[in-house]
Amino acid sequence: MHVLVIGAGQLSLMLAEAGSRLGIQVDRLDPFSGDLRHGTSLDVVNYDLDTLLARADILTAEIEHLPDNTLVQKLMAAPRFPAARALRLIADRLPQKQLLDELEVPNAPWLNCDSASALDQSIERFHGEMVVKRRRGGYDGRGTLLCDSDTPRPGDEWIGDTIIEQRIPFQRELSIVGARNAKGECVFYPLTENLHRNGILRLSFAPVDVSAATQRHAEDSLRKIMTALDYVGVMALECFDTGDQLLANEVAPRVHNSGHWTQAGTDICQFALHLRALTGLPMPAPTVFGPHAMVNLIGTSFADALKHSAGHRLHWYGKEPRPGRKVGHINMENADSGKLKQDATALLDALLALE
Ligand code: ATP
Ligand code: MG
Repeated sequence: MHVLVIGAGQLSLMLAEAGSRLGIQVDRLDPFSGDLRHGTSLDVVNYDLDTLLARADILTAEIEHLPDNTLVQKLMAAPRFPAARALRLIADRLPQKQLLDELEVPNAPWLNCDSASALDQSIERFHGEMVVKRRRGGYDGRGTLLCDSDTPRPGDEWIGDTIIEQRIPFQRELSIVGARNAKGECVFYPLTENLHRNGILRLSFAPVDVSAATQRHAEDSLRKIMTALDYVGVMALECFDTGDQLLANEVAPRVHNSGHWTQAGTDICQFALHLRALTGLPMPAPTVFGPHAMVNLIGTSFADALKHSAGHRLHWYGKEPRPGRKVGHINMENADSGKLKQDATALLDALLALE
């Protein structure tokens, strides 16, 4: 089996690693430069696009914000790319929010901010407690603006091609990661708790202590979205837990940073699950081994990553550290979830002190 991944970042690298354990050849194609790499190799190889597409049993993507170039246009139109429709829709927050409403998946109340009067209306409706989000291209908090009584009105550059959401006073952020195959079968991991700083994910814990009804609600919401888009592969749904209910924040049509703990914490990690779903391999519900945490390395040097990962599992992406750049993560486990939280939080604090 050959899987062609659009994207050449760490998610594609970890897909290639998982593929090597399932006998699946993963090719990684950078949609910006057009560079191709086989498996986990860092060497760029020559290729003919038509031959590459003919060889691929299935196409998938590791990023939703794809450039609009001729390579991507050709890839999006290729047969055997079951997520193409979902990618097109989810890349734009406006149809994404419309889909959540249509499917009656509870989500943060929102308005399309396409004019100054729409902005005025939002300020009135949400009493200034709102988050302005660019419809396209945002990630890791870039392209979002939090407004409150101190910053009551965003500048005019935020009018048009943005949406405005009510600012949700959540207790915690959770995410659900699951997969759907071509037969429509779905499996899910337990809800994961995520801690963000400045819009960037820093820490995840799983499984979260939630009621069976909450887990079921999250699974039903994600199942509805995957089914409506006839999606195949792993998808993640980020949520706000308000204490009373789960509100959907955003959908990621790919393997997700909040699912990295599954590499150590389950028998089928999200990368293997994605490949299983895509290639039609059996897709049993993954077994969870116990409490796990994942700490992101943001701008950390390799030396510090080595030092702070002793006794845990380090994943280093081979990237040059820069402030704000994800360069790796550390998976940690402890049967005592309280102790795990303490240790992971202490590790995060130690890493933050280095920034
Ligand atoms: P990602 O890197 O996950 O794609 P993003 O930058 O695209 O993130 P969001 O996930 O929508 O954008 O927002 C980033 C973070 O900002 C959220 O994880 C949350 O902490 C905060 N946030 C976003 N929307 C809201 C909201 N409506 N109310 C309160 N906080 C919010
Ligand atoms: Mg997000």
